[in-house]
Amino acid sequence: TYFGFEKVSAAEKSEQVYQVFERVAKTYDLMNDAMTLGVHRLWKDYLLHKMNPYPGTQLLDVAGGTGDIAVRFISYVRSQRERQLRRELKSKQNLSWQEIAERYQQGDTGCLGGSQAVICDINKEMLKVGKRKALDLGTSEGLSWVVGNAEELPFMDDKFDFYTVAFGIRNVTHIEQALQEAYRVLKPGGQFLCLEFSSVNNPLTSRLYDLYSFQVIPVIGEVIAGDWKSYQYLVESIRRFPAQEEFKEMIEDAGFLKVTYSNLISGVVAIHSGFKL
Ligand code: SAM
Repeated sequence: TYFGFEKVSAAEKSEQVYQVFERVAKTYDLMNDAMTLGVHRLWKDYLLHKMNPYPGTQLLDVAGGTGDIAVRFISYVRSQRERQLRRELKSKQNLSWQEIAERYQQGDTGCLGGSQAVICDINKEMLKVGKRKALDLGTSEGLSWVVGNAEELPFMDDKFDFYTVAFGIRNVTHIEQALQEAYRVLKPGGQFLCLEFSSVNNPLTSRLYDLYSFQVIPVIGEVIAGDWKSYQYLVESIRRFPAQEEFKEMIEDAGFLKVTYSNLISGVVAIHSGFKL
């Protein structure tokens, strides 16, 4: 059974998705680690590696939840900027120690070169958990948290260098509309990147994956979060999401060019990329 999802109206689906994430917000990060055995961290790191953002770039992370992508973006940019500064300092041999110390004391903002990341999510509970975590870990610099719907983003046209959506787009009711919005808010030259569960193309992996997702994940959901239903929904929403090629066409239909995708673990997860040119 599909949790009754396909029988409900668009408005009802949005409401149900909202309730699922409201229920899971507090245990979301723990569950992510438990369900993927921590591997979601590697997938997210790989997304950043593909993005390879430089200091000064602006990111919009849609369906950003507790901020994993945005936090990684800021720390990636910071390390790029520090590398840049170190190279500059090395090449200018005549810099005094005091000058070098001053450069380093520019503080964190200087190290981001003006980069910022906006985390946009329809669910304020998810954002609240993320904001708290970032404050507690001291990683909140350069981040802003905005409640908003992927289908109707509260941002101006041509504003961002990167648009990311990680494990989020399958929850959106009108995916085409969300893709059009992604196109609208990106600057010309900007890149769309989507990390999402996808279609497994290897029979053995596929069988193991089915077993794991239908038999194990709802049990973990029940044991850790006391919430079988929400995790059953998560598994089912993955199955109903379009496969790699179909999703690639949807991205192209929204106007993106040079659309490509790469599969991770035989397509358990795929990263789609496209450019607004
Ligand atoms: N991106 C985060 C990550 O990778 O950990 C969170 C992913 S979580 C599985 C999906 C998120 O999508 C939830 O936080 C949910 O509130 C959000 N979401 C669902 N529908 C949305 C919509 N229409 N617009 C914006 N966010 C939405």
